[in-house]
Amino acid sequence: MKILIAEDDATSRTMLTALLKKWGYEVVSVEDGKKALDALQDQESPRLAILDWNMPGLDGTEVCARIRSRETSDPPYLILLTAREEKESIVRGLEAGANDYLTKPFNHDELHARIRVGQRVLDLQESLNKARDALAYEAMHDPLTGVLNRRAILEILEKETSRANRTGVPFSVAIVDIDHFKKINDTLGHQCGDDVLVALTRVMSECCRAYDSVGRYGGEEFLVVSPGCSDENAKTCCERVRNAIASTPLPTRSGEVNVTVSIGVAVYKAGAKSEALLGAADAALYQAKKEGRNCVVVAETGQTI
Ligand code: GH3
Ligand code: MG
Ligand code: MG
Ligand code: MG
Repeated sequence: MKILIAEDDATSRTMLTALLKKWGYEVVSVEDGKKALDALQDQESPRLAILDWNMPGLDGTEVCARIRSRETSDPPYLILLTAREEKESIVRGLEAGANDYLTKPFNHDELHARIRVGQRVLDLQESLNKARDALAYEAMHDPLTGVLNRRAILEILEKETSRANRTGVPFSVAIVDIDHFKKINDTLGHQCGDDVLVALTRVMSECCRAYDSVGRYGGEEFLVVSPGCSDENAKTCCERVRNAIASTPLPTRSGEVNVTVSIGVAVYKAGAKSEALLGAADAALYQAKKEGRNCVVVAETGQTI
């Protein structure tokens, strides 16, 4: 673990640095509060800091207060190490945001033990953050294919619609439905069907642009929301997706499988609601199925590509 030492007295700084290095820590040392604050805001900043109270510029409590005023789920662990031993100072230091307080001259074993307490708190904080991130990811993604789930893609559609209502910049929403998917399940089994869904989303995601969003709408139906897409490029984008899927054999546990998709796409028109757009894309998809599948139909114009 990397530890920051902020101490204006050169002798104390050298002594503390040597001690921490002896215990196996990586040490960054600075001689004033301003530099301490900068070091704690770096990308690869130390996770734990030992701060002197009296330092030029910002003192140790001010460093604590500034660090605590930042919105972060990953704050550093701060230990004030100072000659001030009155109870009022201890209270002030902790109130300013220090996690712990140790008075000089300090006992080496005690400092070492307190650093280990800090490390345990930081480890716990990290595992809580990881668990929270994993939950947030799971809440938004489809467990089979890894693309956005229904709730997340519909949220994006909603946001895109309100953005378009505000800015007038169009976007498109496409429903992509696998043709005769039931046949794959019936002839090769559901697990192979699952493999097709996984491989197909990969192809689809690869041929979409970085700022397009792909989500699983239902069983074998996917939504693609493409910001900035007007009629012409909506057609081009959907045709690219359709063609990529039709021409890519998908790897499954039963060997390579070829599938095609039908796509219905609707482009935002001034004042449109997301519900209406989805409805229009769905009607276009229905038409694409009727026209023989493996094709794209643009809503409103009814144009088949
Ligand atoms: P169409 O060309 O008209 O769309 O025909 P289709 O067979 O694709 O459509 P249908 O709605 O008749 O069947 C969809 C099938 O998708 C039925 C369902 O069992 C299957 N399905 C839905 N979700 C999953 C899944 O997660 N895994 C697998 N293997 N199959 C799924
Ligand atoms: Mg000092
Ligand atoms: Mg379907
Ligand atoms: Mg289908």
